[in-house]
Amino acid sequence: MMSLTVAFEQMVQKQRDFFVANQPFSLAYRQQQLDLLKQVILNNEAVLTQALADDLGKPKFESYVAEIGFVLHEISTTIKQLKHWLKPRKVKTPLLSQPATSYIHSTPLGVCLIISPFNYPVSLTLSPLIAAIAAGNCCVLKTSELTPNVSRVLKQIIDSIFKPEYVTCINGDVEHVTCLLAQKFDHIFFTGSTEVGKLVMQQAAKNLTPVTLELGGKSPCIVCADANLDIAVKRIVYGKMLNAGQTCVAPDYVLVDDAIKSDFLAKIAKRIQILYGDDARLSEDFGRIINSKHTQRISKLIDTDKAIVGGQYDIEHCYIAPTVLENVELTDPIMQQEVFGPVLPVLSFSEHQDILNIIHSLPSHPLTAYIFSEDNKTQEQLTSAIQAGGMAINHCIQHLVNPHLPFGGVGLSGIGSYHGKHGFDCFSHKKSVLKAATWFDLPVIYPPYKHKLFWLKKILK
Ligand code: NAD
Repeated sequence: MMSLTVAFEQMVQKQRDFFVANQPFSLAYRQQQLDLLKQVILNNEAVLTQALADDLGKPKFESYVAEIGFVLHEISTTIKQLKHWLKPRKVKTPLLSQPATSYIHSTPLGVCLIISPFNYPVSLTLSPLIAAIAAGNCCVLKTSELTPNVSRVLKQIIDSIFKPEYVTCINGDVEHVTCLLAQKFDHIFFTGSTEVGKLVMQQAAKNLTPVTLELGGKSPCIVCADANLDIAVKRIVYGKMLNAGQTCVAPDYVLVDDAIKSDFLAKIAKRIQILYGDDARLSEDFGRIINSKHTQRISKLIDTDKAIVGGQYDIEHCYIAPTVLENVELTDPIMQQEVFGPVLPVLSFSEHQDILNIIHSLPSHPLTAYIFSEDNKTQEQLTSAIQAGGMAINHCIQHLVNPHLPFGGVGLSGIGSYHGKHGFDCFSHKKSVLKAATWFDLPVIYPPYKHKLFWLKKILK
């Protein structure tokens, strides 16, 4: 049997040949491919929903809002906006280069590799693909081995509409990624853990391949004394419990003002009870952890003495109850890693400097930080003082679903960003083009230079 590396080498070469032979893919072609993707998703909506339920126990609503519907909407807006995005952008031209006009053209990068994680396996595979197609690239997709059902359906979908030399989907594990990373791609777009992100970047560096890394980390959620507490609690529980806490931008931990801590804890306990009842196992609206290994990992982060809500787990059935921990210390195991499950540690602060000290004492800049406060000055101060990939004030997750905002991390939570036009830009090269006129030739730039320096100094000052 042909080794994986050789097979991938041939596959990438075929994509490169196809890319070069068809440059540039026209606007109509790109829109057509995106429309094909839209139709095949619509035709497979039920199959995808079932696969998401099988792999992650995802409630139908969550599967639509954060996966299928999210992707359909992204395709529709991309198809509508693409003509506008593709237009070269005219910029000014300096005097010394006149007469001329200058433009920035968005051109494709070539053959791109997209590696996706398990938690939103549809949207985190297809959303970058939409951007890559829009920007005119060929693509290899590598789905997560932890979601075998979704990965199988995605492969069927991709194979049914695209030629493999245009877009192909690989279902595989670490060995597959390793062999893929040995190939020369023009861009690698990776979504996953910081740990694996570092490996991807190391491999990419060997070929000087640019990377976009969409990673994780501990995203703080700050609740100030003047917050609208009922709204804060509603939105924090929503952000934390979506997909059973397996969301890269879930509030990882809460920092609440000492003055309102007991009120906050009482309200959060009540809210969880209202949403998920006495036993969240019976709720149709609460998902499961991806596998027993991760369930075990999360269960070990629960200090039952500190649990004021939940604390129960069932490793065999990949269940962790919605859990809130109080009096958490920075040295507790739960503060040493990204939780990525429905367990919410609550720490407190007495002054704003404590917030910054806590956040900046952790190894990574967070992917997201949330602030709940009614005071504009507090919002502004914290927004400028906290280093985070993105932020939301008085809400959770919503900054991610706004396609007009670039979504990405900073420091250990990622490199680069995407969504909407930002995704198109992420998969495009910004090519500078200066078009000079020939009806006049500015003599000042050519030798002999004698007597010209005087004029040059007048212009370049
Ligand atoms: P992961 O890093 O374990 O896996 C992601 C991908 O990398 C998978 O396709 C997997 O096959 C591959 N992979 C795993 N180990 C590898 C290795 N040793 N060498 C090469 N490839 C390897 O991530 P995950 O567990 O699937 O997802 C959870 C993580 O992803 C969390 O940290 C979460 O915060 C992060 N995440 C980030 C975003 C974002 O947009 N920033 C979105 C979703 C998830």
